This record gives sequence, C-alpha cells and structure tokens, in this order.
Amino acid sequence: MQMGTLVKIAAVARSESIAQAAATAGFVEIRRLEELLSTWIPTSELTRVNSLAGVAPVSVSPETMVVVQGAMRVAEMTEGGFNIAIGPAVDAWNVIEGQRIPTESELEALRPLVDLQAVHADARKQTIFLGKSGMRIDVGGIGKGYAADQAVMAMKKAGASAGVVALSGDIKTFGQLPGGKKFPVGIRHPREEGEILAFIDLEDEAISTAGDYERFFERDGVRYHHILDPKTLQPARSCQSVTVIAREGMWADGLDTGIFVMGVESGMRLVEALPDVEAIIVDHEGLVHVSSGLRDRIRTP
Ligand code: ADP
Ligand code: MG
Repeated sequence: MQMGTLVKIAAVARSESIAQAAATAGFVEIRRLEELLSTWIPTSELTRVNSLAGVAPVSVSPETMVVVQGAMRVAEMTEGGFNIAIGPAVDAWNVIEGQRIPTESELEALRPLVDLQAVHADARKQTIFLGKSGMRIDVGGIGKGYAADQAVMAMKKAGASAGVVALSGDIKTFGQLPGGKKFPVGIRHPREEGEILAFIDLEDEAISTAGDYERFFERDGVRYHHILDPKTLQPARSCQSVTVIAREGMWADGLDTGIFVMGVESGMRLVEALPDVEAIIVDHEGLVHVSSGLRDRIRTP
C-alpha cells in the first residue's frame, strides 16, 4: 500500500534482473513522493505547508512545486471545478471513515478557507504559503497521476523498455509489450460491479478515472462520495465517473476530478479543445459520452 492505494508495477526489459530493478525503482520513487505530498504523513512537506497556514511560507522541493502549480493550472482549465484548497471540506465530510453529513452552517464556516487565491506558490523562492489560518491543501485528486509519471521516469532510467504503473485507477504506460502490442486497459462500469464499460489500448499514455463508486456511503437513498464541488462543498452530482486519457498522468488525474465537478457539457468541451486529451464520461443518468478522438479506439465487451 502506497499513497493510500494498492500500487502495481510491471516492467519489460532485456533481462529479468533489469526488469526487477526497474520495478523496484518505481516503487521507491512513489514512496519518496508520498513522503513529500501525503497529508497523512506528519513530516511531509504538504503537512508542514498546511500546519503553517496563515503563519509563514514553507520551502518545498521542486516536485511539490510542480504538483501544486499543475493543480493551479487544472483549476484554471476546469473553471474552478478542481480546487486543492478543498482540504477543510474533505476533512469535514471524512467520507472514508466518518460517514457523517456536515451541516450547512458547518460548511458555510469553511467556505472562506476554500480559496485558491490565497494559495501562494512562489516558483522563484520555491515556497508555498497558505494565506489564511485553517486552510489546507489536498493533492489527493492529482498526486497519484504525478507519482505514476515519476515512477515511469525512474523505471526508464533503470533500463526498462516498457511497463505500466497503476495506483488503483491512475495508470501510466510506456513503450510496447513484447511482440509490439499496446497495453490493454479496461474501464470499470460505475454501477455494475465487476463489469467493464470499455477496453482501450494505450501506448505512452496515462489513463485516470474519478468515480463516485469507490469511496462513498449512502443515507436515505442518497449517495455521498469523496469528490466535492468547491462551490457547494457537497459531493459533486453531475457524473458517475470520468475517465481521462492524456500523455501525462498528472493531467489525466487532475482533469478527471475537475471534469467530474464541471459535468458532461463543459467537461467535454474542454476535452475537445485540449490536444492529446480524451475522455469517457458517464453522466448522472448513466449515459456514456465518448470524446471524438476515442470513438474509433474503444472496444466494448
Ligand atoms: P481517487 O483516485 O483517490 O479516487 P480522484 O482523482 O478521484 O482520486 O480525486 C479524489 C480526491 O481528490 C479526494 O479524495 C480529495 O482528496 C480530493 N478532492 C475532492 N474534491 C476535489 C476537488 N473538487 N478538487 C480537487 N481535489 C478534490
Ligand atoms: Mg483525479
């Protein structure tokens, strides 16, 4: 278990020992990044940034800077659907363990803290400062994709010619399987347990899915899950799942969460406008929407 999920790595190389070493290098890299980015680890850089919110800027490593700046960029692209300042609201819901529904007034009190304008990431000084005390940033919606990218770099450096890194739903592939085959990936059906919505072959691409079906609880027939709409601070309601394919895992992961909040219409418009980005969106009614560049690439079971 790394980054709160099961990590799987497969490597292709000239020899078994090189493949083994490359896989190990991938795991080691993910562990290293977790020590920087996880807000569950008391000594991580982001924990320090959060605990000094409203007090002082914190020096961070280049990797932390890249993730936070990438997150700001995704926030712009998704018109605020993606927002790493969502931390206090995520904690209030604590969907994973708490299964409690925060009151409107509780959420109202947190609203001023969910403020990206008050996230000051200074690339020149390599510092991050959260302007208001009580603010918390949470890169849970983008960090796994970035970690997959970095793990792939480490694997290539260790001599792998191809491979795949999967942090549960965040998958990055590079190269081709022996025999010149691409990496086949299945996209889960958001409502039918064990069913596959579509298959797709990937080559030097990342795929990432955000869904309301993995971490949720139900109360009075309403599903409460872990992707929050930064406007309402309630679970986002417009989709059941969003799968994004991109060159880099960081963009695929950030965009899946942001588009989940945006909804199918503006989400698809964004995907069609971005080069090398494709998506499959299952809307709140269960209708499946496929971006134009994917229609000829997916296979249905
Ligand atoms: P996972 O693969 O863990 O399901 P997702 O990419 O679906 O991750 O992102 C969900 C996580 O992102 C949440 O657990 C939370 O930490 C964070 N998050 C929730 N809502 C938002 C949001 N609107 N913008 C950015 N991050 C969010
Ligand atoms: Mg995501």
